[in-house]
Amino acid sequence: MIRPASTASIRSRLTLAILTVSLVGAVSIALYFPPQLARLARGALVSKAVAVAEVLAYNLTAPLEFHDGRGAAETLASVADDLDIAGVQVLDNAQRTVAGTHFYDALERPPLATEVRERGAVLEVLSPIDGPGGRLGILVLRVDATRVQRDVARNRSLTWLVSLAVALMGLATGRVVSRRITGPVSALSDAAEAMAEGRFDVRVNHVDSDELGRLAGAFNAMAHNVQQARREVEDYSRNLEAMVEIRTAELSAAKDAADRANRAKSQFLANMSHEIRTPMNGIMGMTELTLAGKLDVEQRRNLTIVKDSAEALLSIINDILDFSKVEAGRLELERIEFDLYTLLDGVTDTFGLETARQDLEFVCNLDPRVPRQLAGDPGRLRQVLVNLLGNAVKFTASGHVELAVARVRTPAGATAVRFAINDTGIGIPAESCQTIFGAFSQADASTTRKYGGTGLGLAISSQLVSLMGGTLSVQSTVGEGSTFTFELALDPAAERDPHWPTAAGARAAVVCRHPASRRALAAQLSRLGWATDDLSADLDAPSLEAALDDGDGPLDLLLYDVAAMRLAGPAWRKVLQAAVARARQSVPLTMIGDQDDEQDQGSDGQLRLPAKPSSLQAVLNPEAARAAAVKATTDPAGDARALHGLRVLLVEDNPVNQTFARLLLAKLGCTTTIADHGAEGLELLSRATFDVVLSDVQMPIMDGLTMTSRIRADEAGTGGHVPIIGVTAHALQADRDRCLASGMDAYVSKPIRVQELVAAITAVLAAPVGP
Ligand code: ADP
Repeated sequence: MIRPASTASIRSRLTLAILTVSLVGAVSIALYFPPQLARLARGALVSKAVAVAEVLAYNLTAPLEFHDGRGAAETLASVADDLDIAGVQVLDNAQRTVAGTHFYDALERPPLATEVRERGAVLEVLSPIDGPGGRLGILVLRVDATRVQRDVARNRSLTWLVSLAVALMGLATGRVVSRRITGPVSALSDAAEAMAEGRFDVRVNHVDSDELGRLAGAFNAMAHNVQQARREVEDYSRNLEAMVEIRTAELSAAKDAADRANRAKSQFLANMSHEIRTPMNGIMGMTELTLAGKLDVEQRRNLTIVKDSAEALLSIINDILDFSKVEAGRLELERIEFDLYTLLDGVTDTFGLETARQDLEFVCNLDPRVPRQLAGDPGRLRQVLVNLLGNAVKFTASGHVELAVARVRTPAGATAVRFAINDTGIGIPAESCQTIFGAFSQADASTTRKYGGTGLGLAISSQLVSLMGGTLSVQSTVGEGSTFTFELALDPAAERDPHWPTAAGARAAVVCRHPASRRALAAQLSRLGWATDDLSADLDAPSLEAALDDGDGPLDLLLYDVAAMRLAGPAWRKVLQAAVARARQSVPLTMIGDQDDEQDQGSDGQLRLPAKPSSLQAVLNPEAARAAAVKATTDPAGDARALHGLRVLLVEDNPVNQTFARLLLAKLGCTTTIADHGAEGLELLSRATFDVVLSDVQMPIMDGLTMTSRIRADEAGTGGHVPIIGVTAHALQADRDRCLASGMDAYVSKPIRVQELVAAITAVLAAPVGP
């Protein structure tokens, strides 16, 4: 049962309880005691009267026996002083009054034994007087009860007074007790409420050491502790705020310092790269020039080593510069339309030649469904591929290095181009697979490591790939090899190059002793629609014959390994020759570095391994290839010839670079006039006419940008336009942008490469003159 919540205070409830108990007690006393007292008083009176009557009756025996009236009277006199006795009558057997007061003339009913009769306020005791010979008479004793009744009435009043006193005392006690108990409890409750409102300085006064005193003491101790703790928390939070402010100020100062240091470091790296590039320009340029002249074998070999070393050094400098750009967040990509096949052809040429010197097979496996024209930064894409392929070649002693480019659908349903660089090299331990993408980290960082490197390549490549919107990842097994992969988004509507033939259902076979190339060629052909067999050169003659001739008529296409055919036994050669003769189209495969490679070059219809995408396309679709060849205008020698007789103004402060550029331009048939700085350049231009100006950017007195702006400002009046090409060691995109913004038509970066310079001059001369 749920008791309804009481709203009355403990004090009033306690008072009420005590008052009720006292009232009940008082009423009980008032009702119970007076009748009890009355009964007791009457009982005592009766007992006394009976006892007196019987004693008198006994003492009257003798006087009655001897009829001694006087003696009887004397006996009665013994009780004459008793206040309560109203009178005594002694009667003999003849009913005559012998002595005492005359109450009765005769008794109507004489008692047999002592008998008590009540007559109003008078008690009457009748007691027989018996002698030895029988009854002698009757004693009648009358007792007055008035006095006793008065006593009873007085006692009743007294009892009621006592009851009233008890009730009043109960009331007083109730008040006192409840005040004593509830006073401290209310004080505690008030204090607790105050504490709940957040006033922790409240205390409860209680001097007694009873339970309430101990409760109050405990409450006070608790309040003290809470107040103390709160004070500590407040102090702590005040200190904390102050500490946070100090720390924030320190951190922000540290961050500013770090930012300044970072900017200074980036600036330092950029300056250093500029300073290193300038002498590198001299070294590489002069080496290239000297190599182009007449040299004996040893001189040529030594200079080639100088050139290779300079190239390697330049690549390290480029890496450091790129890394400083990554660190400073200044690495930017351009977005232009580019020809993916040209890029892959170049990479294949480079690595094909490099791997041919080792026992290593290089393969470029392009999925023909990948569009030829892509949008992006071809230079940076090439840099990533060259870095990953360079690593693959560096860490692979034998087997293959494959660059696979495929059109894929991502798990999210988008279309992408996947670049996968796979090798059969030393592999990377699982624990290093994540760390190698961090700067300076190498899987083998021991001092005894076998392979050189700065540990920057993957860090830069992975940054470049993420700027391109992809993620560079690796899967590797130690001792088996590694595959680095990244995917770049592709417009789903982009179509494959129309110059690929379609060969739905046609039959093709690839017979080749190089397994990776064979597999890649077969895969490419089957993606174009051929039903393709890839056949190892290790097959014996009957197996080869069975594989090539399965009764379905001649093959539509046969790609066969020329060197394998030459080296094989007569039976095998015969089988293959017969298949070549029968096939509708047969394509001899040669390998870079094969002995007869040189003599086979140029013979129509052959495919040199590693197969470049455009070469494969050309052998599969010779007509399209011929059309493309007519369109191609990449004859550097032809361009160089076109520069003959040009008048060039070279504005350059560095004497080594002056010499190099003059020699280079002289070789190209140009006449060169040199100015040491921009101001001198302006003066020479005002006096003579030049076909093209090559200008350094950073120079004393007047820099190249200021000079260009002045020239363009002057031309605004005359309507002329002299082509200006910036030659800058600053390789940052922003530096190049500044060149174009100042009015230059193009720029080439130092160190100057002959091809690049020729291409730039040709391009600016061919460009229509602007307004
Ligand atoms: P490094 O200049 O040292 O080659 P990278 O950043 O290009 O710097 O590579 C970092 C490290 O990753 C290498 O030192 C090598 O330990 C490991 N690594 C990269 N590519 C390969 C690979 N194809 N096979 C095995 N290890 C590799």
